[in-house]
Amino acid sequence: MELPDFSMTIDGKSVAHIDDFDVINPSTGEAFAQAPDCDADQLDAAFDAAARAYGDWRTDLALRRETLNAAADAIVANAESLAQVLTLEQGRPVNQSVIELHASAAWFRYFAALDLPAEVIQDDATTYAEVTRKPIGVVAAITPWNFPLLLASWKLAPALLAGNTVVLKPSPYTPLATLALGAALRGVLPPGVLNVVSGRDPLGASMTEHPVPRKISFTGSIATGKRVAAAAAGDLKRVTLELGGNDPAILLDDIDPAAITEKLFQSAFGNNGQICSAIKRVYVHESRYDEVVEALTERVRAAVVGDGFLDGVELGPIQNAPQYERVSQLVASAISDGATATTGGRPMDRPGYFFEPTVLVGAADGTAIVDEEQFGPALPLIPFSRVEDVVAQANATNFGLGASVWGADTDRATSVATQLDSGSVWVNTHMAVAPNLPFGGAKWSGIGVENGPWGYAAFTELQLVLRAR
Ligand code: NAD
Repeated sequence: MELPDFSMTIDGKSVAHIDDFDVINPSTGEAFAQAPDCDADQLDAAFDAAARAYGDWRTDLALRRETLNAAADAIVANAESLAQVLTLEQGRPVNQSVIELHASAAWFRYFAALDLPAEVIQDDATTYAEVTRKPIGVVAAITPWNFPLLLASWKLAPALLAGNTVVLKPSPYTPLATLALGAALRGVLPPGVLNVVSGRDPLGASMTEHPVPRKISFTGSIATGKRVAAAAAGDLKRVTLELGGNDPAILLDDIDPAAITEKLFQSAFGNNGQICSAIKRVYVHESRYDEVVEALTERVRAAVVGDGFLDGVELGPIQNAPQYERVSQLVASAISDGATATTGGRPMDRPGYFFEPTVLVGAADGTAIVDEEQFGPALPLIPFSRVEDVVAQANATNFGLGASVWGADTDRATSVATQLDSGSVWVNTHMAVAPNLPFGGAKWSGIGVENGPWGYAAFTELQLVLRAR
C-alpha cells in the first residue's frame, strides 16, 4: 500500500524534520513508518503561524462556515486512504476506521451549520444588553490514541468555527493519520489556521507551557490531564479536559438479556474496550445475573479477533505495548485474587498485542479490575441485590464520565440513572455520542464539555455588550 504524506503542516506547508520516531503496527508489534519529532523552533513556528493567521480568520464567519464544509468534503474524499493509515497504526478493523472518517466529517458539517446568535438579556427604557461570543485566540489541541481523527475533529470543528486557530498534536502512538489529515487540509484551510505537529510526550508539555496558546483542549488520561491543568494555571490559559472513565452499567431486574446482549457487547468491547466512555463494569441484579453472564460470555467468545485488514474481524489488537501489559496484568491479578474468566483471560499466543476478549465473574469492588480504568477487552460482571447499594457502589469513585441503567420500566431506570454522578447518563443504551450532544466528565473525568453549543462556547470568551439609554 502506498503511504500518504506524513510530514508536519506548519503555516500551510509541509516542513522537513531532523529527528523522527518509530510508529508500530499493533497487529505485528513491528515499526512500519516513522513520524517527525517536532523540535522547539518548529513548535515556535507553528504557534507563530497560528497567531498570524488568527488576525484574518477571526473576521469572516461566512468564510469559516464554507471552509469547514470544504474540510468535511476533503475528509470524505480521503476517507479510504486515511482509514488504511488509521488501521495500520491504531489496529482497529478498517471498516470501523472508515466510520471514524465519516463521523469526523459529520462533526465538521454540524459545526459549519451551528448558529449561535447573540442573546439579548435586557432591552428596556434604561438599558440594552446582549451577550456575545468572541474567539479566544490560538488553541493547543492534544489528542489520545484511541480515536485520533474523531477526537481531533471534536476540537477542530468548534474551535475553527469560533474563529480560533489551532496547533494540533496527536499521540506519539498514532501520529500518522492526523499528520495525513493535516496534509489533506493544506489546500482547504488558509495557511496557519491549522498546524499539525508530532513528537514524543514532552512535546505535549511544551505546548501547554508555550506562551502563545490561550486555550488548551486536551483529551487523554487523568494523570496527564492534571499536569495540563497545572501547566495552564500559571498563564490562566483556558482548559477543556476530557479524561478517563470507569463507566458502570446497572442492569435492573426487569431487563431482557437477549435484547440487550449485543448492545452491551458493543458498548464494552467496541474498539477493544479502548473508549473513554465504554462500559467498564457491569452491575447485574442477582435475579438475572446467571442469564446475563451466560449470554454475554457466549457473545464475547464468538467475537472475531485479528488483524484489522482481514474480512470479518470485529476486534483488533490492543493499541500499544504498555496498554497490553497493563490489561494483561489487571486480568492476571483479578484471577489470582479469586475472579474467574468465563471466556478469555489471557494474552493471545501470536505476534502483536492481541488479548483474548474476557468476561470476569467473582471480581468485587475494591479490586483493581473494578475500581480502575482497564481500557481494554476485559469486563467484570458484579451481582447486586438492592438498588440503593448499587447506586452507592457506582458513585464511590473519582471517575464520573458516563453511566447507564437498563430495564423495561424506563421511568424507573431513568430515576436510578439520575442518581448517578457522571457527565452523561444513558437509559437502555450506552455511549450515545453525537455532534449535538454535550459530552464531558464529572469529578476526575474532566473539566468542561465538548460538542453541541456548549462545546462551541468552550472555544469562546463571553462578552457583555451593554448600551445605556
Ligand atoms: P495520555 O494522557 O497518555 O496521552 C494523551 C495525549 O497527551 C498524548 O497526545 C500525549 O502525547 C500527550 N501528553 C503526554 N504527556 C503530556 C504532558 N505532560 N502535557 C501535555 N500533553 C501530554 O492518554 P492516552 O493513553 O493517549 O489515552 C488514553 C486515556 O485517554 C484513557 O484514560 C481514556 O479514558 C482517555 N480518553 C478520554 C476521552 C474523553 O473524551 N473523556 C476520550 C478518549 C480517551
